[in-house]
Amino acid sequence: MFVDVAKIHLKAGNGGNGAVSFHREKYVAAGGPDGGDGGRGGDIIFKVDDNLSTLADFRYKRKYSAENGQNGGASRCTGKSAPDLVISVPRGTVVKEAETDRIIADVSDDEEYIIAKGGNGGWGNMHFATSTRQVPRFAKNGNPGEELDVVLELKLLADVGLIGFPNVGKSTLVSVVSEAKPKIANYHFTTLTPVLGVVRMGEGSSFVMADIPGLIEGAGKGVGLGHEFLRHVERCRMLLHVLDASGSEGRDPIDDFNKINKELAVFSPELKERPQVVVANKCDLCSDDDVEKLRDYFEGKGYKFFPIMAPIAEGTKELINYVAALLSKLPPVIKYEAQPKPRVDYTVKAKRTFNIRKCDGVFFVEDAPWLLDVMNTVNPDDFESLQYFERVLRSSGIIDALRNAGIHEGDTVSVYDVEFDFVD
Ligand code: GDP
Ligand code: MG
Repeated sequence: MFVDVAKIHLKAGNGGNGAVSFHREKYVAAGGPDGGDGGRGGDIIFKVDDNLSTLADFRYKRKYSAENGQNGGASRCTGKSAPDLVISVPRGTVVKEAETDRIIADVSDDEEYIIAKGGNGGWGNMHFATSTRQVPRFAKNGNPGEELDVVLELKLLADVGLIGFPNVGKSTLVSVVSEAKPKIANYHFTTLTPVLGVVRMGEGSSFVMADIPGLIEGAGKGVGLGHEFLRHVERCRMLLHVLDASGSEGRDPIDDFNKINKELAVFSPELKERPQVVVANKCDLCSDDDVEKLRDYFEGKGYKFFPIMAPIAEGTKELINYVAALLSKLPPVIKYEAQPKPRVDYTVKAKRTFNIRKCDGVFFVEDAPWLLDVMNTVNPDDFESLQYFERVLRSSGIIDALRNAGIHEGDTVSVYDVEFDFVD
């Protein structure tokens, strides 16, 4: 089965906790703090693997987690950082955040994309010794790794997309103009996984043509044509609209053409405007007259029109030459830009959990992963930004909770990677 959408859950590794430990040696009465830092949690990284052509693997395994960093140890021993988890996807996989639908990455080149970031390790107590606090009996916990649901969508990378009803001869066309050998059969829905064929024009020039799964089943039964398959031609630079010129199987080529274009427009008005060339196949099964009538119709509408007989490659050379010339004038294959994280207003967000822990006169604000999100956007050099941070601390109840825990002016507040003095 061809799978081109999948929803999976990602959990990057947590940072390891810092250690509380004191140097001990014979004859040394009270050694200094020597608790090491926790290691980093593993990132979750997406990368192209060209051996993959579908997202089928993600149907069976839906949860992915990277390992946590190890905790720090005594004698300034830093915990081991966890390895990153690398997930292989087919080229052209667009990764979206499920909750917001925002594009996180378009995994279509050979870069590595960090989709979920591992947490930093917490500092061991060796970092917390000061002149007034020589025996820090605390260390910091590691930061949590990012956790999110993502939707993967496969949007193939091809210059030319073939569209048309099942059985009109799309796979046959690809098989005669490229080295690709998609399944050809005289029944519908033979193309179950997309096939990319490289059409070589000689002299190092070539382009990629995509034969995609046909219209979904039931399409002809009035449940709509189903535009699932159109996702795959979304980035194509141009489309070849293949028709059965002979109208075998009771088809009417002009009616077919209009139906599919209507569907295109519903799916994406932008796609509807993509250059389209009409390819009238199965010309061996109809009269020259019929072909000329079709030509008049389509050329009258401003389309380029190529009559062919795909199995014997009749007319395909003219078609390919024209396509190559047109491509040289068209913009490159579309790449989707990552969309920035929308700003959540944490002064009003309902669920803002946290915990306060007091240790050695330091007040730790913990178990509040949402605060990490806030802190990532706060610029400590910007007054307004700091005011926002303060408003978040107030409105979420953190300031009150600190007071209830007995905080005084000048005491240290420690929130993940940040420490500041409490000012009332
Ligand atoms: P697709 O579903 O659009 O990919 O169509 P296929 O390429 O699988 O072809 C469907 C059937 O039509 C196969 O049996 C082909 O052999 C046949 N076919 C394709 N092109 C032609 C043609 O130009 N003339 C004739 N007579 N049959 C064709
Ligand atoms: Mg086919």
